[in-house]
Amino acid sequence: MTTQHAFSGARGPDGESHLFYQTRKRRPPIDRAEGIYIWDRAGKRYLDGSSGAMVANIGHSNPRVLEAMRRQMEKATFAYRLHFENEPAERLAAATAELMPEGLDKVFFVSGGSEAVESALKLARQYAVATGQAQRWKVVSRYPSYHGGTLGALAVTGMALMSAPFAPMLRDMPKIPAPTCYLDRDSLTPEERGLRYADMLADEIERQGPETVLAFIMEPVGGASTGALVAPDSYYARIREICDRYGILLIHDEVMSGAGRTGRFLASEHWGVKPDIVTLSKGFAAGYVPLGAMVADRRLVEPVLDAGGFVHGHTYAGNPLACAAGLAVLGEVLDNDLMGNAERIGGLLEAELKGLMARYPFIGDVRGKGLMLAFELVADRDTMEPLPVGHDAHNRLVEIAYGKGLIIYSRRTRGGRKGDHFMVCPPMIATAAQV
Ligand code: PLP
Repeated sequence: MTTQHAFSGARGPDGESHLFYQTRKRRPPIDRAEGIYIWDRAGKRYLDGSSGAMVANIGHSNPRVLEAMRRQMEKATFAYRLHFENEPAERLAAATAELMPEGLDKVFFVSGGSEAVESALKLARQYAVATGQAQRWKVVSRYPSYHGGTLGALAVTGMALMSAPFAPMLRDMPKIPAPTCYLDRDSLTPEERGLRYADMLADEIERQGPETVLAFIMEPVGGASTGALVAPDSYYARIREICDRYGILLIHDEVMSGAGRTGRFLASEHWGVKPDIVTLSKGFAAGYVPLGAMVADRRLVEPVLDAGGFVHGHTYAGNPLACAAGLAVLGEVLDNDLMGNAERIGGLLEAELKGLMARYPFIGDVRGKGLMLAFELVADRDTMEPLPVGHDAHNRLVEIAYGKGLIIYSRRTRGGRKGDHFMVCPPMIATAAQV
């Protein structure tokens, strides 16, 4: 005989929830979501203007994805990779590889962005060990940047606020400034600025000792840490050239910028630069399931497998349900030309945001690519002076928008100084009218 336990959802003796996240701040419970909208339990509708945390790329409750998940659930929801292969994982790996530049065709599945970054760092290191370059271990990254919350990913993250409490537990990794050219008031052309920032990588490699440097990790279009930062065109190719010059691996963290959001499957396609390793998550399964991937050049993977195997793995790697959902998401993106839509609608939204700059002098910058856009508030647009310390525009604007049923995503960080920028990244199904 079976009994049913009815969980009450009761709160603790002090009336507080048993759940906890970063702070005590709580939000209303979600009831349902569809397309670009979310409803809370009180019936209030919100426009998901940031796709959550730049995740829900194809919108909510997509029928094709739900059906694919239902069909897979009826077959098998879990199969441990050491016991069984599974078809959705095999098919998603093949479909992903097809969207990658030539040679970048070995796919390792994980459950999220931080795991994808950890996997990339570990594969890079194991490749060095397997090919007689064991002295290489330093991973150069940028400041500011965000590559994840787990300790390895945090070591290459350039956000003091996130890493400070863990400093004694983190290996100190070298950082170079992110190319925040929009703040520079020099006489250089954008192309010259791009080269100047890229050359900081060569300087840092020389300072560290080139034989000790393993890899450089960067977000081709910056995420929440820099507010959709795009470098001048010259930056991307020069970075590749410097990595090649020193035999250093180039890791593109496309956890946020990948999977089509910028109008191309990989943001790096805008500049025709091929990395050695790419990380994907967020829009890859668009919020339907936790899923991420680390995609590597076969040139790196083969020596590692030949030398005894990749010493790394997570229990949920290649989960059949997650991969079935990911495959359906990819199908929706490709069949409905959502990348083309991201480019078109992103262009419209960017023009609208730039139009607001004419009305509001405190909008200092609008930037991004496709539907990965951000605007930044400043005290003075000419000098790009940030809002004064203690000013709470950052939280206030988010709260005002939330009150009006519009979700935007914000962060306060800008190089060594504070900046108030806001990500505007609706799902890639957004229409001109919704913009
Ligand atoms: N890398 C980038 C570029 C990100 O934007 C994020 C998350 O925001 C991560 C990694 C970490 O991903 P996750 O939060 O899924 O672990």
